[in-house]
Amino acid sequence: VSNYQFAEPLSKSDIKKFVSTIRNSCNLSNILYMPVIWFIEVLIPAIDNTFNYEIVEQSQLPPNTYACYDPSSNTMKISESVYDGACDNNGRDRFTLAHEIGHYFLHRTGVKLYRSDQPPQAFVNPEWQANYFASELLMPSYLIQGMSIDEIKCKCKTSYQAAEIAFKNANKNRAI
Ligand SMILES: [Zn+2]
Repeated sequence: VSNYQFAEPLSKSDIKKFVSTIRNSCNLSNILYMPVIWFIEVLIPAIDNTFNYEIVEQSQLPPNTYACYDPSSNTMKISESVYDGACDNNGRDRFTLAHEIGHYFLHRTGVKLYRSDQPPQAFVNPEWQANYFASELLMPSYLIQGMSIDEIKCKCKTSYQAAEIAFKNANKNRAI
């Protein structure tokens, strides 16, 4: 038995709709290259004046953590290496920031901690939700349909691995 974080349940289609609402409200619905740094430095502070972000040294973050969002202080901490990497369009670093943006939008009011003998299922798992949000924010399924994995990677500036997952998701949904 361990402690696990649980979030309010969200399906893939809930998250897709939510991300497309955000993209529409910023006039970014048809943009393949999502400016993640602008989201953190300009957009979120403009809509939420209690939001903070800090660029920190790796030693100020827990081991193996490169960015994190704390709902209780409404603060996102980003390691220098991830911030610089995202500025240089490194796909993995851009995904890390998009994942934290997901935590901000989806888990701003917090997540619950439960003792359980099993990890949460995907739809209530905050990490799965933030990853799906990040994938849709960077590579929305409605925009990448018909594109190859390489095309997605180059146009959306993501890693090959992330582009491959988004490609599979977009094409699986089309078949249904
Ligand atoms: Zn996370």
